[in-house]
Amino acid sequence: MKKIKNYINGEFLESSTKNKIDNINPATGKIISTFPRSNHNDIALAVNVAKKSFLSWKNLSTKERAGYLIKLGEEIKKNANELAAAETIDTGKPIQLSKKMDISRSSKNLIYFGNAIIHNSSEFHKMDNNTFNYTLRQPVGVVGCIAPWNLPLYLLTWKIAPALATGNTVIAKPSELTPYTAYLLSKICKKINLPKGVLNIIYGLGSEAGEALVLHKDVPIITFTGGTETGKKIMKNSARNLKKISLELGGKNPNIIFDDADINLAVDISIKSSFLNQGQICLCGSRIYVQKNIYKKFKIKFLRKVKKLTVGDPEDINTDLGAMISKDHFRKVMGFIEKAKQEGASIIQGGNSVSNDGKLKGGFFIEPTVIEDADINSEINQKEIFGPIVSLNYFDNEEDVINSANNTNYGLSASIFTNDLNRAHRVANLIDAGTIWINTWLLRDLRVPFGGMKHSGIGREGGIDSLQFFTESKNVCVKYE
Ligand code: NDP
Repeated sequence: MKKIKNYINGEFLESSTKNKIDNINPATGKIISTFPRSNHNDIALAVNVAKKSFLSWKNLSTKERAGYLIKLGEEIKKNANELAAAETIDTGKPIQLSKKMDISRSSKNLIYFGNAIIHNSSEFHKMDNNTFNYTLRQPVGVVGCIAPWNLPLYLLTWKIAPALATGNTVIAKPSELTPYTAYLLSKICKKINLPKGVLNIIYGLGSEAGEALVLHKDVPIITFTGGTETGKKIMKNSARNLKKISLELGGKNPNIIFDDADINLAVDISIKSSFLNQGQICLCGSRIYVQKNIYKKFKIKFLRKVKKLTVGDPEDINTDLGAMISKDHFRKVMGFIEKAKQEGASIIQGGNSVSNDGKLKGGFFIEPTVIEDADINSEINQKEIFGPIVSLNYFDNEEDVINSANNTNYGLSASIFTNDLNRAHRVANLIDAGTIWINTWLLRDLRVPFGGMKHSGIGREGGIDSLQFFTESKNVCVKYE
């Protein structure tokens, strides 16, 4: 069994509490590692060293800082198999997904932001009368990076990379459900001799270590990805010290399929957007809206493909859906299926848990589930389920579907399927979401702004938005004779 330790000042340490938490493989229900149950004392220790390391890290040349990040990214690439295997046993996600999506993107995050700071531009504003302004961008200080369990290393590096690249030092807090790849990352940091105290990783509960990080007065900036309710708590706690915050939160994203769309493409992509990572991606399209005259045709094709999806061993390369992250989450998702039935919706595919024998006996598996006839205001069409459940709905016209798509508290993303160029842009313009995909889904360019509207978040990260979020701008106005 692996014994995960905090990574503080380049050293592997137990928590000051000496308490440990078991980490469970959700595909087997078995304990695979233990990690420290850290508290405010561990956070305080990490903040101290991160503060001490700040000056020397921010004063390194851009090229040197970029070099460390690129090296980290390259090492992740070299160790992709080990990291992917670790991500799979920690999360229950299919191994192919861990390799192709999680670990590959983690490496790209570091390499991208390493390069981004080298190629970044600066701002200059000329005025009349021999006056000009130039704007400096300076690191903020010690950054608190809090990440969720669904894309553990992918989202942790999405935050760590730009924070470090811009000259900040970091305290990272992975989810208590998925600590393993963060631990492997700290080993890589040690291996490449990342300067001590620059990146510190603290494990523990969100309500203890996470909250202590958000409340610490010497951490002036917090970047958080997670659920909307936790986001609200973090916003409230950050307000005490007026912190800079970025919140990437939940979603209830629509897939909108018009009658002129390439129906086979819409079906294939909707299969992915409904069930990838067992539906545990904030960007999953959990509400499918199909134009009435092609609804039946879409439904037949869609269900045919759903039936072919395999649920099973995450370590098998042929598995489509692995395990849900935890017993609690499994129960929560099954509860939504029950609620849908009570609300009068029809379960037209799946709807059951999946039992296995052998090593997967204690795992938490759910069939890919399709729900029809759910009211627009029902829980199934309003709440973020974060599981392999999708609702099928139909619409008459553009106005009708725009109203339905916008009828939630969330505003993270939407996918529109149409071959009518004018319609594509018209509808994209009217949907309340931070990301709109047209005839595609989850196609990510790290340069573009990423984030949500309404209850899906505050602020944007990615590309220049990340470089700006993790820095303070300081304008210098110069008058000369
Ligand atoms: P949570 O909000 O439960 O947790 C996210 C992180 O916050 C975890 O590390 C958690 O620690 C920590 N945390 C919990 N409570 C506090 C607190 N009071 N103070 C500080 N930190 C705290 O989310 P999940 O991990 O369950 O992730 C799923 C959610 O994330 C979904 O809603 C999903 O939509 C969202 N998400 C959003 C994305 C986006 O980009 N918009 C991308 C991916 C996911 P611990 O795990 O120990 O409780």
